[in-house]
Amino acid sequence: MPRRPLVAGNWKMHGSLAANAALVAAVRDVAAGLPSVDVAVCVPAPYLAQVQGLLTGTRVALGAQNVSEHAQGAYTGEVAAAMLAEFGCRYVIVGHSERRALYGETDAQIARKLAAAQAGGLVPILCVGETLAQREAGQTEAVVLGQLDAVVDVVGREGLSRAVLAYEPVWAIGTGRNATPEQAQAVHAAIRARIARHGADPGAVPVIYGGSVKAANAAALFTMPDIDGGLIGGASLVAADFAAICAAAGEK
Ligand code: PEP
Repeated sequence: MPRRPLVAGNWKMHGSLAANAALVAAVRDVAAGLPSVDVAVCVPAPYLAQVQGLLTGTRVALGAQNVSEHAQGAYTGEVAAAMLAEFGCRYVIVGHSERRALYGETDAQIARKLAAAQAGGLVPILCVGETLAQREAGQTEAVVLGQLDAVVDVVGREGLSRAVLAYEPVWAIGTGRNATPEQAQAVHAAIRARIARHGADPGAVPVIYGGSVKAANAAALFTMPDIDGGLIGGASLVAADFAAICAAAGEK
């Protein structure tokens, strides 16, 4: 089956009941007009119930931004995959660079989170990406593929086959400086080759790009053969910008 384009908004720690209602109303309309694009919003955990209600009967999927590696238990402040599933989540972001950098998440922990997400019935969006220093040192592929391999070591080919991968160069996230389409394509192609080397079907695993995707650069990025859509931070909070990005994915 050909891969469908996926555009997922990562709201990060933004939102309010009123702002969410307005934004979701706009996203619902956008998605309704773009049947060839899968659209999702990954919202802060306290808003899951609200957004679940707003999305009922629409073709916008709900996602979360983090999940515990544990199924349940004495883990104050954590949220289990089964809880996210109960609130209608389809996706959960795992291994975002902000969680790696600010909360010390390791490859091993991220692998356990991905496994927990899948065990709870969710589709993990696994983020991988290099820092600027790593890129400048010529380590981009080694870093990105190493992050991927660390997860596959735990979840195997089966787990990889049921994930979405997001290439998110750390230097492009929230900086306004996106990877060029050619830079992104090169890494996406390397990721896809690695998927094949792991014995999974490289044509079946969506690989999306994230890092300062905007209305102005989305079409050029999405034209690339191995870029299957985007994980969108800042621009996902502005309805018109998110709509334009989704429309660009629809041109793929
Ligand atoms: C992100 O946080 O996943 C992201 C891609 O952010 P931005 O689009 O703001 O760079």
